[in-house]
Amino acid sequence: MNLVLFGPPGAGKGTQSDNITKDYNLFKVSTGDLLRDEIKKKTNLGNKIKILIDSGKFVSDEIINDLIKKIISNPKNHDRMIFDGYPRNLNQAKTFDILLNSYNLKIDSVLNLEVDKDILIKRITGRSVCSKCKKIFNDFFNPPNNNHSCLPRFLVRRPDDKAHILENRLKTYFDDTFPVLNYYKKKNILHNISASSDIGSIYKEIKDLLVSLNH
Ligand SMILES: [Zn+2]
Repeated sequence: MNLVLFGPPGAGKGTQSDNITKDYNLFKVSTGDLLRDEIKKKTNLGNKIKILIDSGKFVSDEIINDLIKKIISNPKNHDRMIFDGYPRNLNQAKTFDILLNSYNLKIDSVLNLEVDKDILIKRITGRSVCSKCKKIFNDFFNPPNNNHSCLPRFLVRRPDDKAHILENRLKTYFDDTFPVLNYYKKKNILHNISASSDIGSIYKEIKDLLVSLNH
């Protein structure tokens, strides 16, 4: 089977994709990893990517699609791929289909980890860490009170600019992903997974779904 996994930053997508990769003996395709690998190999493309990233620019769809093509063209990966963080927008999704088609491959299921945007923003903005005992708290979900014995002055909040960057990343994710999810919904391969609970229950939900789909 070939899978695509979607999930906003902070939804635990990394952990879930690692779980699925291991249990189903899949090959994980993460664009972040592909870009890092290419930079490490110091190829022409790698050097180009490094310059883009270092200057804070986006890596073009064209470069991403080229890297994905290298993976898809390798028969060793056929029918055992899980895509994590790709396709990121509708343009990538369409190129992806053409690419898969040319190797007679298809995506069997798209799993979408669903977490409410407001909850994710509260996770970011409400977060504080104790600089003494290193415990992590959240004003909305897990406020420091009886469960914390250090002085309040040890509690450190994320600086506003950092919280703002994370919030923006989240908004970009929802804006870009919405059309992609709709695209897969129309193909009847989109499956939403409610991902507001703990990691273990979410993974159980994923496994149950894969069983029900005969994967
Ligand atoms: Zn503490």
